[in-house]
Amino acid sequence: MIQLIFDEKIKESPTLKFAQIARELNRQNKEIISLGLGEPGFDPPKDIKKAMIDSINSNLGKYSPSSGLYELRKLISEKLKKENNIITSPNNIVVTPGAKQALLLALMSILEPGDEVINISPSYVSYIPEIKIAEPKSVVKNIALQRNNFKLDKQAIKENITAKTKLIIINTPHNPTGKMFDKDEIDFIADICYRNNIFIISDEIYELLNFSEKKHISIGSYKKISEKVITINGFSKAYAMTGWRIGYLNAPQKIYNKCIKIQQHINTNTCNFVQYAAIAALKNDKSHINKFNLEIKEKEQILLNVFKDEIIKYTRAEGGFFAFLDISKLNISSNDFSSNLIKKHLVATTPGIAFGNEWDDHIRISMVTDVESFKIGVNFIKEYSYKLR
Ligand code: PLP
Repeated sequence: MIQLIFDEKIKESPTLKFAQIARELNRQNKEIISLGLGEPGFDPPKDIKKAMIDSINSNLGKYSPSSGLYELRKLISEKLKKENNIITSPNNIVVTPGAKQALLLALMSILEPGDEVINISPSYVSYIPEIKIAEPKSVVKNIALQRNNFKLDKQAIKENITAKTKLIIINTPHNPTGKMFDKDEIDFIADICYRNNIFIISDEIYELLNFSEKKHISIGSYKKISEKVITINGFSKAYAMTGWRIGYLNAPQKIYNKCIKIQQHINTNTCNFVQYAAIAALKNDKSHINKFNLEIKEKEQILLNVFKDEIIKYTRAEGGFFAFLDISKLNISSNDFSSNLIKKHLVATTPGIAFGNEWDDHIRISMVTDVESFKIGVNFIKEYSYKLR
């Protein structure tokens, strides 16, 4: 069992590995332009920090319910209803230390030996390792997005569904492409899962980071499939609370019952103080996000201008804070591209291969650093790509 769990699918997180190289160069007093990291470039609003400090001073640190503080679960269920059109109750919500852990609880609750999982590739680096940790004898089928526009390949998904397909994982806005699924794509997933009795994990952690005109659609709002959808979200990205570790899931009753048992035994409850901060976050207005979205929009425009000659092909990002650049014309692996770039130009990016073997001709950049550094960074990328031609 242990050998199976630690098979070759469970690798060191490549994004964290590149972040470590950047930190090391920083320690040597080399100034890195970071286009690698997945953290917002602002601090959490004051009210959130105050709520956490107040809860510590009020000694609210005793064990609390494994599912999460009732007040927080109630606010989450109201948010899901109002903003996502998902009908739920506080008794279907589990508050977890980060969205990553919510994903793991859901996967452990759903998967059994031999189950097949459809993973849309490129995908967040932790999906496949978490699937393998949750169920070593599961089978992952990576279905690549279409290369010219990052839309779902509906035909390939259809062809890969078998009697053993138990789950599809979707993520919108998407890491690493910045794409947001269109209604026809969500309709398609809902329909095919309904007809084949397949669970859906919908990772919506970038929901509030939206700098396009597109509307975010939660698949959990589709009534016919709602009993099969586990919605994952959290506070890391929209409230810049990455290191605070707080996220949540909304699940149908049977899955919820399993998730809660796992949570009880592995971490009792999510840190109370951070839960009080999350309560403040949900009570606060979300105006802090507008400025950040406007900044990302400005950077997205820079990408459009810098890469218009198409040596590097840029497919427009719409939400989240990543863009996925096509370096296929340069005949270099994504690892070499990213390693050379950081060593020679001190610009940190993430190799596409981190998000799926089919994507070794792409790199991911994040749009969270300040506008001036971003401009310098992407121009270095362009300069470097000219040298490679
Ligand atoms: N899901 C996606 C798509 C992510 O990109 C990330 C973090 O980068 C997570 C989940 C994990 O979020 P958290 O920090 O809340 O665990």
